[in-house]
Amino acid sequence: MADVRGILTRRLDSAWKRGEPSALLADWAERIAALRAVSADVAEAAEGYAVGIAGADDAAAIQTVRNAALSRENGAFTEALALGPSLSVDEKRVLGKGLNLGKALIEAVEKAKREALERSKEDANALDVTLPGRRPFVGRPHVLAQVRDELLDLFHGLGFSVYTSPEVELDTYNFGKLNFAPDHPARDAHDTYFVNPDVVLRTHTSPGWVRAMEERKPPLRLVFPGRVYRAEAVDASHMDQFHQMDGLYVGKNVSMADLKATLNTFARAIYRRDVPTRIIPIYFPFVEPGVQMDVQCATCKGTGRYKDESGERRCPVCKGTKWVEVLGAGMVHPNVFRAVGYDPEEVTGFAFGMGLERITMGRHGIHEIRQFLENDTRFLSQF
Ligand SMILES: [Zn+2]
Repeated sequence: MADVRGILTRRLDSAWKRGEPSALLADWAERIAALRAVSADVAEAAEGYAVGIAGADDAAAIQTVRNAALSRENGAFTEALALGPSLSVDEKRVLGKGLNLGKALIEAVEKAKREALERSKEDANALDVTLPGRRPFVGRPHVLAQVRDELLDLFHGLGFSVYTSPEVELDTYNFGKLNFAPDHPARDAHDTYFVNPDVVLRTHTSPGWVRAMEERKPPLRLVFPGRVYRAEAVDASHMDQFHQMDGLYVGKNVSMADLKATLNTFARAIYRRDVPTRIIPIYFPFVEPGVQMDVQCATCKGTGRYKDESGERRCPVCKGTKWVEVLGAGMVHPNVFRAVGYDPEEVTGFAFGMGLERITMGRHGIHEIRQFLENDTRFLSQF
């Protein structure tokens, strides 16, 4: 008789991982026993292939084992079936029945194994509610924009509206109509970026007052946020572009007392406490009188001295003066009113201007102004 056992087991590979077909098929024991009763040779071979399929790690490994047994070209079962013509009628009947049972058994194990692999893949993708969530990256407003928006909220609450004007500005709006003398040093090319002799990059947001007053009749209550430019040497506390916010209030009988009340409201809101302030006289061409508002230095708490692990020294923020300049302000100069066609006998007004970088640095203890423009998210994400 032909070597049925040899043909059926020839393609078993000892390199296959071995699995447990009884874990895949509930009726494995009965089916393999039924097969043994028909043909011990076929049962032994079928078990070998079933063990290989059960041990496969993926679909490709399953396919390899399955093909070794059942491939139509050279599968072991196909080759055994080809023995038929050389066998007796009885032998052929027994072998045929055994091969059919064995093939069905291998296919059942294969199907169960493929389903088991699918299930474990789904399990791996399943939502594990005990894992911490993954937070998506969400941007945020730049710290200067946060401070600007906070100031806009504050002044909006005091009845001020926003007015924006060009960053590339006529010299006459940036200087002339704001009462700068023709030979004022700010007009020097060392301080101002000139586009041409009549056009500059605005050096402050105050040109917005002129444009607003030329467009509108009093009363006016406006704030002017925006970027300004100075031809400065860049260092830790100077940039050649920065941000200001001016404010302007023009009407009948607007007084210095209104200015002081407005500035104190501002200081309390922005520094979030009842911070001591002082107002001292200072010269600006476009206001008369002009003042500077200082707040008590937050770093040294108004002592002028600063202590840390390296000892006590002069406060580096206020340079020992106990005060930090916050903004410039004053009553609008009559010449500015005349330049825009307002009658200084009829209306009065106050104005103020502040640097957003200065306020932001003071609030957050930032000592390096260039960080605002470096786009370093390690810096920006702190705010
Ligand atoms: Zn100080």
